[in-house]
Amino acid sequence: MSKRMDTLETAAQTGAGIVIGFGINLGIAPLLGIPIDMKGATTLTAMYVVASFIRSYGLRRLFRWIEHRPKHRCKFCGDTHVSYEARRAHETARHECV
Ligand SMILES: [Zn+2]
Repeated sequence: MSKRMDTLETAAQTGAGIVIGFGINLGIAPLLGIPIDMKGATTLTAMYVVASFIRSYGLRRLFRWIEHRPKHRCKFCGDTHVSYEARRAHETARHECV
């Protein structure tokens, strides 16, 4: 999954959030006795959209980083590598006694 696809997915989530946010603001808030007009609903929805975009994109990037962070540490110098093979290649090339 590329950063571009992450951005597109987050934009789609945000679009759905606009529809759902407006639906809740205009359809449900009045039923709960919360007075709201179009300006209030628009402002609240905009706040939800910005907050949820940051939350969604930020958490996605965090989980991508956790998934792909280098986990294979050279036992000689401590350098980290993304795969066992990359670590072994490094150890062979840099620490020839392996
Ligand atoms: Zn090393």
